[in-house]
Amino acid sequence: MKVMKLIKKATALFLTVGMIASLAACGGASSAPAGANDQTADTQETDAQAADAGTTVSAAGSTAAAETAAAIDKIVFGTNAEFPPFEFISSTGGAIGEFDGIDMAIAKQIGDDLGAEVAINNIEFDSLLIALQNGQIDAIIAGMTITEERKESVDFTTPYYNATQVMIAKEGTDITKAADMKGKNIAVIQGYTGETCVKDLGFDYVSFKKGPDAIMDLINGKSDVVVIDSATAQKYVNDNAGQKLVIIEDNEQFANEEYGIAVKKGNTALLNALNAEIEKMVADGTVANLADQYAVAAE
Ligand code: GLN
Repeated sequence: MKVMKLIKKATALFLTVGMIASLAACGGASSAPAGANDQTADTQETDAQAADAGTTVSAAGSTAAAETAAAIDKIVFGTNAEFPPFEFISSTGGAIGEFDGIDMAIAKQIGDDLGAEVAINNIEFDSLLIALQNGQIDAIIAGMTITEERKESVDFTTPYYNATQVMIAKEGTDITKAADMKGKNIAVIQGYTGETCVKDLGFDYVSFKKGPDAIMDLINGKSDVVVIDSATAQKYVNDNAGQKLVIIEDNEQFANEEYGIAVKKGNTALLNALNAEIEKMVADGTVANLADQYAVAAE
């Protein structure tokens, strides 16, 4: 799958090179998010310890990650479950309660490995950073691109996934590169790095609260193009097979982006524990396998 640029068995060198590339991604993310007070919180919990009840070997001390995280017994992850295949609500049940997707499976695995309870707090993407700073959540796992601007307010783990912005348009479009969007009706999702990319191009755009709303606007013929992350774009195109949507890449304009988990600045205990987990899951292929699995899985 071309747009799925997975970090497969990544070496430290690869990650270092990737991190440098990500700094150039459209000049960084949008500015500080709006207040988190008006969000609708939707919390679902899983008890990793209960799930592990049959295991005789204690989780603590069994891995480096568990050792680092000896004191961590609960992690409240903030996400925005509107970003398939990374996070979405599954009517048939997901990795954590109703929440499913690559990130949710990663969060569940982290909880299982650390012997920590994991809860998901589903809030607007634009409110995640402030919710973290407020202490409402312990970490953000939301397909969130590591950007210099976000790094000013939160700390990020080692990257676990490579993505890029792409354009989705209707078959027959004359858009072949980002510059061709000039004068078109451009749709983005509020607070996503895609919004920053279009802003940096100097083009007018309409920003939607949710990805599906932008896609619907495209399908209805109001928008000509949607700028969004690659794997999510692929998912929307697959899910709307009858609508003849196409993905257009412009790797010169849209640089490599890397997703990381964010923690509150200075929360090194949690950051170290998450880094050990992420490094392990990238190196042993867990993340790549989840990405493959959820790219094809039905919601
Ligand atoms: N990767 C994009 C960003 O960080 C979109 C993430 C998302 O919508 N969950 O802005």
